[in-house]
Amino acid sequence: MNGGTFFDTLDTLVDELEVGELTLRAAQAHRLACIEALMDAVGGSDSTVVAEGVESEVAALLHVSTRTASRMCDEAALICGRPAIYAALSEGRIDLSRAKLIAVLLGSEDLQELLEQAAILYAYTHTTHELRRWLLSRLPDAGDDAARKTAFDKRCVQITQDRDGMSDLYAYLPSEVAESLFDTLDRLARENVVPDETRTLDQRRADAVADLLDERTTVTTQVNVVLPATGIGASVNGCPIPWPAAWQLAVSASAGWAAWLAAPDGRVVNTSPGKYRIPMALARTVRARDQHCRFPGCHVPAARCDLDHLVAWPQGLTTDENLHCLCRRHHRIKHQTGWKVTHLGDNVLEWTSPAGRTYRTRPPNALGYAA
Ligand SMILES: [Zn+2]
Repeated sequence: MNGGTFFDTLDTLVDELEVGELTLRAAQAHRLACIEALMDAVGGSDSTVVAEGVESEVAALLHVSTRTASRMCDEAALICGRPAIYAALSEGRIDLSRAKLIAVLLGSEDLQELLEQAAILYAYTHTTHELRRWLLSRLPDAGDDAARKTAFDKRCVQITQDRDGMSDLYAYLPSEVAESLFDTLDRLARENVVPDETRTLDQRRADAVADLLDERTTVTTQVNVVLPATGIGASVNGCPIPWPAAWQLAVSASAGWAAWLAAPDGRVVNTSPGKYRIPMALARTVRARDQHCRFPGCHVPAARCDLDHLVAWPQGLTTDENLHCLCRRHHRIKHQTGWKVTHLGDNVLEWTSPAGRTYRTRPPNALGYAA
């Protein structure tokens, strides 16, 4: 019967998945044991330099970052020093994330004696999230003021760039959101200095989070978006983000984003390329360049001309290259009849009539613009 075959197949696949997971967990345990053995062989973790040497070895061998290698070494020391947890991982009864959670939350010998066996048993059949809640509900109240103070002093806000336009701000966020949030906290931290301040900048940034949540403060912040005219390499506060995301910020109405369009040589060619409104300085430049209407044979002075986006905004940017002077009549003709215009480079415009004839115009030779 077909149904039987189908369910047999499913059963086999699920079995294979289970075997795969068990193999993976055992292999993770083995990998940690290997790293631990390596650290032991080199001289234990007594010396920072020796530990860094092992981390570099692991990083080079596995093609991971030093930070990742360092984390793996820490995990190896943590898990391999706890035989019951290591055994549960090695036998595939729990995965690495549950193993780490138990090892970290039950750090002291007292807690290990009290809860470790029960926690491992609970972990067999519960998720990491459930295990965390189970453990936290059983931990004694933090009565140790010194430990609490040490932990409190470490408060900070950090941002780490990741790939694909994302960043960690202890939350994993799109880079533009992370940068904006971090910039806000940083600004607050720098403004919020009391007389005889003893808090570090890190600590003040962390305190700013609570201030923001309590709405004890308002802040105006501005994050810089750079859009290269080449269409690649956009960034927010120097952190790479996808061009379309940068463009969205540039055209957004929020005052919190300052967008700059940069030429390939890095020269800023417009400070608000995403806005339809043309900055005064840019308008002056375009009028000075064109001197008169750019329609073939028309000499209406630039001062009486409209500035027309050659490629309609927002597909086309508000830049000198995409703007030209057109008298009202020819502006209307461009938009309402069959005339087409293309920019051939060097400010040469090619007009194509509805009949298919082409005419080229260029600005008068002034201000160094090519004629
Ligand atoms: Zn004209």
